[in-house]
Amino acid sequence: MKTDARVIPIASALDAAPPTGDELALPLSGDLLDRRQRRVRDLRISVTDRCNFRCVYCMPKSVFDQNYTFLPRKQLLSFEEIVRIASVFADLGVEKIRITGGEPLLRRHIENLIEQLAKLPVELTLTTNGSLLAKKARALKDAGLDRVTVSLDGIDDAVFKRMNDVDYPVGEVLDGIAAAAAVGLAPVKINCVVKRGSNDDQILPLACHFRHSGHILRFIEVMDVGTSNGWRMDEVLPSADVIARINEEFPLEAVDANYAGEVAGRWRYRDGGGEIGVISSVTQAFCSSCTRIRLSTEGQLYTCLFAQGGHDLRATLRKGGGNEALRRAIAAVWRGRDDRYSEIRTAATALPAGKIEMSYIGG
Ligand code: SAM
Ligand code: SF4
Ligand code: SF4
Repeated sequence: MKTDARVIPIASALDAAPPTGDELALPLSGDLLDRRQRRVRDLRISVTDRCNFRCVYCMPKSVFDQNYTFLPRKQLLSFEEIVRIASVFADLGVEKIRITGGEPLLRRHIENLIEQLAKLPVELTLTTNGSLLAKKARALKDAGLDRVTVSLDGIDDAVFKRMNDVDYPVGEVLDGIAAAAAVGLAPVKINCVVKRGSNDDQILPLACHFRHSGHILRFIEVMDVGTSNGWRMDEVLPSADVIARINEEFPLEAVDANYAGEVAGRWRYRDGGGEIGVISSVTQAFCSSCTRIRLSTEGQLYTCLFAQGGHDLRATLRKGGGNEALRRAIAAVWRGRDDRYSEIRTAATALPAGKIEMSYIGG
């Protein structure tokens, strides 16, 4: 995959939002705000663009086949570089770091990275397809990981295999979830991307399976990320419909958000069966409270999941400017941020080429 065309030099972030001398002199502390007065709170770090699944809405086989060029290993940020960047983000106010990918557990010795990141004053989580979780849960916990989110698009083996498109059996992911819970990576969150007509028949069976389990099941509206997943609006099942379907069988009541800007809408079973969530990225955009920034595997910063370009932090890092140069570069990118893609999405904006693939930028 070529990356140069989509890299916006850090200098152009400065051009887009020319900071005054005074702004640059400001102490870069916790109240760093973007152009829409949003602070930077969550950092997602992609540690690989590779994956052993080919989920139909993320890495369709027709595109991610044997001819697809993944990033050469030497282009990836080293663990040391990731930790340096993460520590600067923590200084700038980031409170949560999520490790993602591609499939993050494919990155060799990932627990060594976790161990370093766990020293920062942040909540540390990881999103995984669960295929390697049974093997790695203990090492991840010992390294200091707080929680995991596991993607699971069906409980029926045939549906699950069709969604991951590599014939991966659901039982092994369920074993991974059980292992994570057993070592205390809890509460485990389970993410199901709902694609109408493909796996929406799994909503009730999944709800049934995870009621009273202590795990938090969340349904996500399928999004038009990247350019290869052939997204169509009519494949989005609105979260309101998901809630209505579950409520009919197992009555639900709304729960207050844990904090302002929480992405998932929270619900609980009236009979005490636990909590579920919905992430309505398409039908109820939450850009106005979006505090997320993403660091790609090769060190590009993305201020939106739907960005068409990143900012080259690796170059800043490798020029040897020290942490102060990193702080200024990151602050300039965040201060210039004006993204609100989901608020202005239309069938037309969903089409243009050039959007970054989810497997590259990190979910
Ligand atoms: N491989 C890991 C996994 O699947 O959990 C981590 C990376 S994956 C890109 C992160 C999350 O993005 C997953 O929960 C996945 O279901 C979600 N995702 C990927 N493509 C999506 C899409 N088109 N719409 C909504 N969610 C998507
Ligand atoms: Fe891989 Fe995760 Fe994308 Fe599925 S959603 S293809 S598991 S990166
Ligand atoms: Fe945040 Fe961009 Fe998603 Fe809006 S579309 S919530 S700005 S990542």
